[in-house]
Amino acid sequence: MNVRSEFPALAQSVHGKPLVYLDSAATSQKPRAVIDAISHFYERDNANVHRGVHALAERATAQLEDARSTAQHFINAARPDEIVFLRGVTEAVNLVANSFLSERDEIVVTALEHHSNLVPWQRSGVKVRVAGVDERGDLRFDELEKLIGPRTRLVAAAHVSNALGTINPVARIVELAHSRGVPVLLDGAQAAPHLAVDVQRLDCDFYAFSSHKMYGPMGIGVLYGKAALLDAMRPWQSGGEMVQTVSFDSATYQKPPYKFEAGTPDVAAAVGLKAAIEWLSGKKGLLEYEQSLLQYGLGLLREIPGVRLLGAPRERIGVISFTLEGVHPHDVGTILDQEGIAVRTGHLCAQPLLKRLGETAVVRASLAAYNRREDLDALAAGLRKVRETFA
Ligand code: PMP
Repeated sequence: MNVRSEFPALAQSVHGKPLVYLDSAATSQKPRAVIDAISHFYERDNANVHRGVHALAERATAQLEDARSTAQHFINAARPDEIVFLRGVTEAVNLVANSFLSERDEIVVTALEHHSNLVPWQRSGVKVRVAGVDERGDLRFDELEKLIGPRTRLVAAAHVSNALGTINPVARIVELAHSRGVPVLLDGAQAAPHLAVDVQRLDCDFYAFSSHKMYGPMGIGVLYGKAALLDAMRPWQSGGEMVQTVSFDSATYQKPPYKFEAGTPDVAAAVGLKAAIEWLSGKKGLLEYEQSLLQYGLGLLREIPGVRLLGAPRERIGVISFTLEGVHPHDVGTILDQEGIAVRTGHLCAQPLLKRLGETAVVRASLAAYNRREDLDALAAGLRKVRETFA
């Protein structure tokens, strides 16, 4: 995929070496089209939305709503009012935890979850039950089947694991949960940048994704919710924008999605997200390209003595987590950084999963549209250097 030159950040050197960016699962770099769309908004259209009657306010409002319908079509939601703009997946899960659940509820998650799809449920006071993974890093579907019971109010599962790249069998999860009358929330943070998402076909009840992982700006993301569910949910944050009428004693609220969008939204980020979706939607064959890079990278790493790959999921995206025998992952990351190579090290915000797989910290290389085989060659060469340093 020949898109690298569209990403200004990739043209730089780090510690005197050309940057090799292999940390896109943490956040992706941004193409010029996205950066320009945000600049253009601030140069011409900046105004607060929904309240103004002047030209700039109308333009800004139109752009925000345009971004909403772009996000709607990106995941094939039936209606624009099923798209709630929030800061990202973390905020989306917090919203659902606060507005959809009650303390006596139980929810079922998978052992593959990012902390963002675990801690908010814990804090909401509900009982959290966890379906495990096998040693490959695939969901134990049989456990999920056993855990969904009469008190289960929600199943919340990653579409794709940020630590192992596992693609969960989300259609089967939804089918199973629905057969027991239980709604499903899917965490699409790692799926939206790589896989086609169709919420109507999946029939999931909630779907969350973050712009910054899919070539868009930070600070914005989407919670999709089926209209009837959003309608019945209580607001979480409150203030301006989300109200219809206000007296000194009480208030009435707007309909979704505005009921959940208190305060001034990040309109420029919404404009950037729209540009990112348009950019991404134009990249045909991206998944195949990333899969071939993934196989190439796995092949290279398997040849390096001392590398232990974490998990071997049957279906996965371009995320490779590993350890190097005798070297702490942070040391691996620091030496790679000296070579201009950016990887993630540590617990990957998935401490329970890593523990289950026998690790506390790992190194993660993650791929995006702008990566090339040369990046993986550089990673392999860097790892050989790490080994020599610690020999
Ligand atoms: N879920 C997954 C699978 C993730 O990878 C991440 C980000 N690392 C999140 C949730 C949280 O997303 P955000 O930080 O954008 O809210």
